[in-house]
Amino acid sequence: MAPIPKTMPGILIEENGGVEVLKWKTDIPVPQLKDGEILVKNEFIGVNYIDTYFRTGLYKAALPLITGKEAAGTVVASSAAGFKEGDRVAYLGDHAYAQFTAVPVARVVHVPDGIDMQQAAAALLQGLTALTFIREAANLKLKSSASSAGENAPWVLVHAAAGGTGSQFIQLLNSFHAKVIGTAGSAEKCKLAKDNGAGWVIDYSKEDVVSKVKEITGGHGCDVIFDGVGKATFDMDLEMIALKGTLISFGNASGPAGPVEILRLGAKNIKLMRPVLFNYILTKEEWEEYSSQLLDFIKTGKVNIKIHEVYPLQEVGRAHSDLEGRKTTGKLLLKL
Ligand code: NDP
Repeated sequence: MAPIPKTMPGILIEENGGVEVLKWKTDIPVPQLKDGEILVKNEFIGVNYIDTYFRTGLYKAALPLITGKEAAGTVVASSAAGFKEGDRVAYLGDHAYAQFTAVPVARVVHVPDGIDMQQAAAALLQGLTALTFIREAANLKLKSSASSAGENAPWVLVHAAAGGTGSQFIQLLNSFHAKVIGTAGSAEKCKLAKDNGAGWVIDYSKEDVVSKVKEITGGHGCDVIFDGVGKATFDMDLEMIALKGTLISFGNASGPAGPVEILRLGAKNIKLMRPVLFNYILTKEEWEEYSSQLLDFIKTGKVNIKIHEVYPLQEVGRAHSDLEGRKTTGKLLLKL
């Protein structure tokens, strides 16, 4: 294996702002390993909406910052049991927008044979969000092999259903007891959501979502809503949620949702949640259970992540602009 250099290329944020603050540098010190960490040479780096929040300052972090929450690559040094040089891994961590990242092994998986490195880099953050929220926040149940999503299955709505997280939600929900409605911002995006398995789709750039949901569900409303859009959709969620429904607001693509008048929840005994992925994968057991289940879904072809584009790392600003400009479907990756 080639010797590890002292410095590396990567993207540094020295002040919060627009995409212009994502600065390409070639002399960033390669991180020093601590006990229990591995050094990964990143092959593909996942782009997530959260990266834009750290860039703008909506979510706070000390500056200067190398942002980026996930990647897949090869172990080049290890101070942790179970991982050795040359292993193919994917991880959730910090500072992924660079050639090398030091990662605590608590959030690392070996990439199994049968899963390519693009799928591995694309899978974890958005897929584990979808899987943990489906299982723990919404408490939906896997279909038994004999049953399909019958008449009595709950109505489940996913906003931004053609996005990175939304696409994995829709594909995973195919395996759960649920009748799935996807919303998206164009006919092309609605088609992707439908191809991924949504039973019904609504183009919210044109259609009145609340009345369409009423029509689709025969007046029942949605038993579960997964909303990563936030500000633009939150009010309609409160209108179209079913009696005793669970409204899971988990993102801010259009700006943060709320504030909400708590008395509004009483009208339909609504359960309102604002979950964060990392609180569902705190223990080793949780990490192993959810990551292995997700990788199985990918390996068996039940989840197949559409890669929107692999951008050169130097063009990360274009990737952020495309994501924030609603020009993308599926997953954006970066490559050095
Ligand atoms: P996406 O790939 O879903 O991209 C965002 C999508 O949101 C766009 O494609 C667009 O789809 C939709 N959107 C609606 N309104 C706007 C707007 N005003 N500006 C921009 N986009 C808009 O991104 P991700 O999958 O990375 O993330 C989706 C959401 O999930 C984010 O809010 C993110 O923060 C959240 N998230 C939360 C987690 C948690 O732990 N709580 C973990 C992971 C993700 P369309 O054109 O179809 O409307």
